[in-house]
Amino acid sequence: MTTPSSTSSEPTAVDASEALNASTALPSILELSRDRLTATLIELGEKKFRADQVWRSIYYEAVASFDDMSTLSKPFRKSLSEQYSISSLEQVMFVTSADKSTSKALYKLRDGELIETVLMRYESDGHRRNRKTACISTQAGCALGCTFCATGQQGFRRNLTVGEIVAQVIEMQRIAYAEDEVQMEQGKRTKGELQGVTNVVFMGMGEPLANYRNVVTAIRVLNDNQGLNIGARHITLSTVGLIPQILQLAEEELQINLAISLHAPDNATRSQTMPINQRYPVEDLIRACHKYADATGRRIFFEYVLLKEQNDSMEQAQKLGRLLNGLHCHVNLIPVNPTKLGPFDRTDMGAAKDFQGGLKQYGIPSTVRMEKGIDINAGCGQLRERAIDILGA
Ligand code: SF4
Repeated sequence: MTTPSSTSSEPTAVDASEALNASTALPSILELSRDRLTATLIELGEKKFRADQVWRSIYYEAVASFDDMSTLSKPFRKSLSEQYSISSLEQVMFVTSADKSTSKALYKLRDGELIETVLMRYESDGHRRNRKTACISTQAGCALGCTFCATGQQGFRRNLTVGEIVAQVIEMQRIAYAEDEVQMEQGKRTKGELQGVTNVVFMGMGEPLANYRNVVTAIRVLNDNQGLNIGARHITLSTVGLIPQILQLAEEELQINLAISLHAPDNATRSQTMPINQRYPVEDLIRACHKYADATGRRIFFEYVLLKEQNDSMEQAQKLGRLLNGLHCHVNLIPVNPTKLGPFDRTDMGAAKDFQGGLKQYGIPSTVRMEKGIDINAGCGQLRERAIDILGA
């Protein structure tokens, strides 16, 4: 199992330049769908059940090497390792926050693009059990140019493949399993009880619905109960609001959570920070949300990053309350994680609570959620930015 290169209390950059130079040429086996994997192994003269064993080893056990697939014969393992690699991600940096709750990895893809993945650890709060959430990227860069987002200021590079999306969860699974094993040794977890990653959020670099087909396929892989087995209700897809794709997603019969990055209650304010609003105005977006909620029966989550003196006034809270009135939804209020590129300051906790009070007047449930990992640049795209500073990449 791969373990994090650093879990120090101070954020630390590790293996940077060496990792950037290394690369493997073999195709990643993660790019094969389950059907394609089965067909490929049958072509190699193997029985169908071998494909099930390989699938389980990769996605459930999260093995890092074909040598670790103990249910397979040695010649078969060798043959696989001569034709495929398991992952196409190469770790460039790994940092952990001072409170150990959040780790962030920077990965280099085969073509040199850099993407970020975050692992957030939550203690049981009495209502919910301990959980580990992987926050994953779906694109290298992003074309949508939200002004508060470091990724948006880097421009679009390319869509990630299904294998590159799923590989991020497998990497986090290896880390989570390693931590479970340490807890078992310390007697804090029942022997044999591996929890691993419990939740996945599509909130890293890129707009997931702009990479629609690969993202939906990746969700089905994550959800496979012979593999990673992440329950659909433990998967959240966050979008700025691409209306045609939201309506298409409503027809996929996935029970995932949909989160909309709203960040403003009206077109004038939203267009200042989110250029996509000029194509899909707020009223049209909320209409699409009603259709989505009606078709799926699922509650919609709204992400509202609070930007000081930009979108955090009481008047804006009440406007948001009126806009969402009658929609089955929940609002997450997030005081912004300042980026060195963004022009905005953080809304303080008192003002965030006042805003929440404004929503309550309209019966809209909300939570004030502090972003994790402030000390490790855990905001979307910030670690890549830091790596470029450090590595000159
Ligand atoms: S917030 Fe999301 S959609 Fe907007 S620029 Fe950043 S990555 Fe793209």
